[in-house]
Amino acid sequence: MSDHTNCKYLVESAQAGSQPPKLKYHAGGIWRESTTDTYMNCYNPSTGEVIALAPQCTSAEVEEIIARHGLEEWKACLLTNEFHRHLGIYSLIGAKMGTRARELLQAPFDTLEVISLAGNKPPLSCLNDGLQVSTGASLGRGMITISENEKQPQPGAMFTFQKHKLTLKLKKKIVDQVKSDIQAAVNKFGGLNQAYFAHVRQLSIEYWLKLDRKEIFEINWGP
Ligand SMILES: [Zn+2]
Repeated sequence: MSDHTNCKYLVESAQAGSQPPKLKYHAGGIWRESTTDTYMNCYNPSTGEVIALAPQCTSAEVEEIIARHGLEEWKACLLTNEFHRHLGIYSLIGAKMGTRARELLQAPFDTLEVISLAGNKPPLSCLNDGLQVSTGASLGRGMITISENEKQPQPGAMFTFQKHKLTLKLKKKIVDQVKSDIQAAVNKFGGLNQAYFAHVRQLSIEYWLKLDRKEIFEINWGP
């Protein structure tokens, strides 16, 4: 979706022979013009030329995410981005997953035990950072472990709070969508370079807004 829109602007700009185009941002299913004055350069990986300018969203745009998903999830996602050092799809899904688990179990911070099913290999294992930040079950506190029994690591986790156990897994339809978006980005930019990360950043913001934590997980109660 972003691709098409961005391409349209890139083509228009090339025809006009003007400055690099300013990209729009995607919120609530609509492409919008940011009112920000701050833009980030996006580079063509083969020439190093600046091909587009991505908006750094303003407080009004931030408020839109908070209105949709609530302050609790916002804080978890924001801290996850800081901790993880870049905006990524799986790390944000981990933050949404941990927030959802705490909600379903009515568990305060720092009370959950978590077993991640996401393995140790990025980008899938990026989920583990979102899980830690959103639950307080950190490696340092010894409250999260990464399951080694998984033949096929997956975006999921088991949560224990007092006598209650809960397993959340990202629905297959969304897993497939994320995988194909990441693969398409790798193909398009030819590897994990600056243009790839600029694109993934934008994709992540779309997913952040679009994915409703109350709808995206399969829920299983019990041990
Ligand atoms: Zn990551």
